[in-house]
Amino acid sequence: MIDIEHQDVTFLPGVGPRRAKLLGDELQIHTVHDLLYTFPYKHIDRTRLYAIRELTADMPYVQVRGQILSFETEGEGRKRRLVAHFTDGQGVVDLVWFNGLKYVMSAYKVRTDYIIFGRPSAFNGRINVVHPDVDDADALHLNAMGLQPYYNTTEKMKRAGLNSRSMEHFTATMFRLIDQPIPETLPSYLLERLHLVSLDDALRHVHYPACAEDLRRAQLRLKFEELFYIQLNIIRYARDRRQKCRGYVFAKVGTLFHAFYEKNLPFELTGAQKRVIREIRQDVGSGRQMNRLLQGDVGSGKTLVALMTMLIALDNSFQACIMAPTEILAEQHYTTFQKMLSGLPVRVELLTGIVKGRRRAAVLEGLERGDVHILVGTHAVLEDTVNFHSLGMVVIDEQHRFGVAQRARLWMKNTNPPHVLVMTATPIPRTLAMTLYGDLDVSVIDELPPGRKPVQTIHQYDSHRESLYRGMRAQLNEGRQVYVVYPLIKESEKMDIKNLEEGYEQLRHDLPEYKISCVHGKMKASEKEAEMQAFVTGQTQILVATTVIEVGVNVPNASVMVIENAERFGLAQLHQLRGRVGRGAEQSYCILVTKYQLSADTRKRIQIMTETNDGFEIAEADLKLRGPGDLEGTQQSGVAFTLRQANLARDGQILQLARSTAEKVLDEDPFCSDKRNEILWRQLKKLRRGAMNWGVIS
Ligand code: ADP
Ligand code: MG
Repeated sequence: MIDIEHQDVTFLPGVGPRRAKLLGDELQIHTVHDLLYTFPYKHIDRTRLYAIRELTADMPYVQVRGQILSFETEGEGRKRRLVAHFTDGQGVVDLVWFNGLKYVMSAYKVRTDYIIFGRPSAFNGRINVVHPDVDDADALHLNAMGLQPYYNTTEKMKRAGLNSRSMEHFTATMFRLIDQPIPETLPSYLLERLHLVSLDDALRHVHYPACAEDLRRAQLRLKFEELFYIQLNIIRYARDRRQKCRGYVFAKVGTLFHAFYEKNLPFELTGAQKRVIREIRQDVGSGRQMNRLLQGDVGSGKTLVALMTMLIALDNSFQACIMAPTEILAEQHYTTFQKMLSGLPVRVELLTGIVKGRRRAAVLEGLERGDVHILVGTHAVLEDTVNFHSLGMVVIDEQHRFGVAQRARLWMKNTNPPHVLVMTATPIPRTLAMTLYGDLDVSVIDELPPGRKPVQTIHQYDSHRESLYRGMRAQLNEGRQVYVVYPLIKESEKMDIKNLEEGYEQLRHDLPEYKISCVHGKMKASEKEAEMQAFVTGQTQILVATTVIEVGVNVPNASVMVIENAERFGLAQLHQLRGRVGRGAEQSYCILVTKYQLSADTRKRIQIMTETNDGFEIAEADLKLRGPGDLEGTQQSGVAFTLRQANLARDGQILQLARSTAEKVLDEDPFCSDKRNEILWRQLKKLRRGAMNWGVIS
């Protein structure tokens, strides 16, 4: 019997130590289990043979049975190619090779039966098949004439002669050698209830389906299983925590909240803000710990919700803390809160990396004594030296920048876990939210404060500087302010900063009548602060910056966002940046400046941006364009890596099913004592051990 988990791949004929190492290094295939779970990326239907006379240039892959009549080399130098005239007795088609000519001539014989497989194209008025697969007509035993699997391989593997075909040999041999059913990983009652095929069937058919329906059923089973275990894990963990963690009860909404509401609130709350505050009040009064994700598009007024939530904690004699991802944003919150709370007996303090010495000591002391009521900070608040007297509420702004581990650390600051409100402006598509934050309750602010005009987004090529300047001048002369943002990524940081500095110099030269601030990550914090401050207070009219301002800066008077090299930004980032304008009552503009040559994907991105302002629509589009693996947040949580079959962009319905099934399992078996479910807990344990961050996504 083969030990699927542990048997290494050298048990396969044709796989010696050298190839085993290659499979391990390149595709992380070490054991039979790994090979089983290395799924083909596509199948090609080889059930049908075509006659050569039927072939047209617009057909997808086809296969033809016939013989080579003769070989010919044509052209010179780099254009040299080998042509084989191939016939099925009725028509003739040319098979063409541009490289490996010697090999082809020696490997294939004339007047011998072959099955060729490839994509027809037209050249010089004739039908060609370039670089076809050629198989001995009799030896085509591999899944002969069925759906043929195609596997990914790497350059290094190909150089060593391992291609998709070799992988096919390996998997086909593996299935012949596996002499027992592959052990099941889901309870049989669930398989029956949901009409899912067994794991054994699923694995065999995901590689070698007899028909498209077989393949679909195999994939469904595997997708379901992946998503189901993630959901089971999250939901079980959440229920567990709910039982163990008593939350502080904030019984009253007291004087501070009311005083703020009546005296300090500069405007009426939007309906959505009111609803969310109600939801939060219910949570914190319930006796269980709040874990709420607050989603709201940029500019929807999340900060105010955060502040009012913290006031509820204060009214119940607890401290509150809000954590922002950047120093600039923390400082901005700090200033906003101080202004908004003026006249109220609330001590707000700031703690970031640049708060040092005596000022820092005073903050720390005040926190421990309990006379600092609200702490605003960056991840500096996580340090061990920061101790609270009674921390009751934690707000995390722009959550996707904080790792899971960091969030857990905040809870350690108290014996009881504080209530947690996580705010994000990157709208997360529902499917992704369920996978990443499945244990959080979700509130959505789906309404912008009144009087906002949607930002107008315009695409402009960077050769049209003059019309860009005309637009900027028009707004600047109205007294508005302008952002000009440059991309910055680690790998090309030096170049990026050079770009920005050149752009800054050019603006100073071309628009000399305006004052310009310039901010980037390589500047000293104090310098950055001064430049920023000059823009925030209106002393300068233009802010040239890298994405440091991406998250959170609030300058309602700014009405133009120019994004240079917009092709280098992802959709989510573009949307975030655009959200920096359109905060006042005036019409605002976002100008996406790109080079002329753009890839199809980039064009699509830019087009989406010019067509919609709806963050959720953009997030869905982003998920579809890039796939979930690239989305911020999924990287650190590791979820995307563990999905081999399921695709969060496409498999929303399966995810729903997985979630409701996991909930039902736990409803029916709350103490995990049902014998039928033992297999689930065993499997869950195994998965937790195996996967990186998979365990606790929360
Ligand atoms: P975000 O959700 O992106 O964090 P902010 O909290 O920064 O948004 O709010 C954006 C702007 O809208 C701020 O200037 C804020 O003062 C203002 N604002 C928030 N709520 C309201 C409201 N109900 N009515 C009018 N303006 C509001
Ligand atoms: Mg914000």
